[in-house]
Amino acid sequence: MAAPLFDRLAIIGIGLIGSSVARAAREQGVARHIAIADALEAHRNEATELKLGDSVHADAAEAVKDADLVMLCVPLGANAAVAAHIGPHLKAGAIVSDVGSCKQAVIRDVAPRLPQGVHLVPGHPVAGTEHSGPKAGFASLFRNRWCILTPEAHTDAGAVEKVKAFWTAFGSRVEAMDPRHHDLVLAITSHVPHLIAYNIVGTADDLETVTQSEVIKYSAGGFRDFTRIAASDPTMWRDVFLNNREAVLEMLGRFTEDLIALQRAIRWGEGDTLFDLFTRTRAIRRAIIDAGQETAAPDFGRAAAEKDTSA
Ligand code: NAP
Repeated sequence: MAAPLFDRLAIIGIGLIGSSVARAAREQGVARHIAIADALEAHRNEATELKLGDSVHADAAEAVKDADLVMLCVPLGANAAVAAHIGPHLKAGAIVSDVGSCKQAVIRDVAPRLPQGVHLVPGHPVAGTEHSGPKAGFASLFRNRWCILTPEAHTDAGAVEKVKAFWTAFGSRVEAMDPRHHDLVLAITSHVPHLIAYNIVGTADDLETVTQSEVIKYSAGGFRDFTRIAASDPTMWRDVFLNNREAVLEMLGRFTEDLIALQRAIRWGEGDTLFDLFTRTRAIRRAIIDAGQETAAPDFGRAAAEKDTSA
């Protein structure tokens, strides 16, 4: 095990991602002291029982005192208030990073609330599951997954390198990206797919001609995989759509056009159009498996406890 990268790591929000960071940080010995803060007493108690950190705090300001790295792991909608609260308590030279699924919103909400001399290095581990809370996390969540960092041009290079080393220690592959580009890429790879899943499950739930018991009984026909995604945390996903509005609307516009073209192909019996698209999409799945981002195992390998949805 290498020497710790940080003396004190503060994790604000000990849910699925925060508790996975805590577990991986402990396992890899990246920090001498792990301080945890969460707004919910039940989560603080779970964090204590699970021994996720060295200290557990109700007040995030106490957790970040003397911290070298502060990792914000709260829903996107809570970032501004948390940053405003901890800002005055950060030490000079501290690094503030995060795990939020949208990056322009994090820069908008957090950067103006940090004092001079504190470095903001926004990040997004492209790894997750449909579960929430401290018990849902696991140390290997980030292994072989991408972590995208979106520092601004003026960000201190040393701070970026340290955050990169942090995620690399967890087995992640790290890439830097412009925050706007990140939000566009994730809109089509993650956010719109989640919206489609929420929508299709909602539509099935509203149907009057097909009963709920039939929907559940015959769910293996594709619907089941959508229900897994549609079981994702409502707070987190509400905040994703509120904070990546423009990119999601842009991608939804394209998606809607393509859907209408498919609708037309079905109406006019254009089998070749359907067949060509389905052949192209099959190749994309093969490419994802070849890139090691998914398994070809039956059930998508999701029988295992670790269910990665790469949010
Ligand atoms: P989660 O399991 O719900 O955890 C969030 C934790 O933060 C909860 O314990 C929550 O408590 C706490 N919290 C909320 N507001 C707070 C505040 N003001 N101060 C302190 N703690 C607060 O959610 P998650 O899935 O870990 O998501 C956290 C972040 O990770 C989000 O920004 C999300 O975009 C990002 N992310 C998620 C995934 C994924 O697949 N889940 C993947 C990549 C990135 P309450 O329960 O009381 O609200």
